[in-house]
Amino acid sequence: MAWHNLTYACGHEGREQILGPVNNRAWIAERSAAGLCPDCYKESQNKRREEENCKAAEAAAKQGLKNLVGTSKQIAYAETCRQKLLKRIEQYITDESKHSRLHRYGLYQENISAANEFLHQQTSAGWWIDNREETVLDVLLKAASATNNSEREG
Ligand SMILES: [Zn+2]
Repeated sequence: MAWHNLTYACGHEGREQILGPVNNRAWIAERSAAGLCPDCYKESQNKRREEENCKAAEAAAKQGLKNLVGTSKQIAYAETCRQKLLKRIEQYITDESKHSRLHRYGLYQENISAANEFLHQQTSAGWWIDNREETVLDVLLKAASATNNSEREG
């Protein structure tokens, strides 16, 4: 085990354990020193995420999307999830090579539009967070069946 004292690019000092062949260690220590210390790295990641959420909220306002409902922390993150998912959906449904696949699942222009509209009306921050990693197909099917249900009820 070899511990190296190093100074990070942010100016903080630290110690990192460097494993591997002896002649690689100096290089690895140098590379670590070119980066941020773990605390500053974490902070920069948080900042990057905050900026991403902010941008997503601005985009949502421009698109005329409804305000999200949830805790402020949920809302901030959900703005990013919503932008990413809506973008993925847009790319998917405008890609003609995907149409036969959509049709196979009973999704045609009409119910896709309804599903898309339903998604644009979705204001639950938790919903966007929960569904952020779903496939476009699953989200569309979920939304399409939700619109079917509300038509039957209403
Ligand atoms: Zn630092």
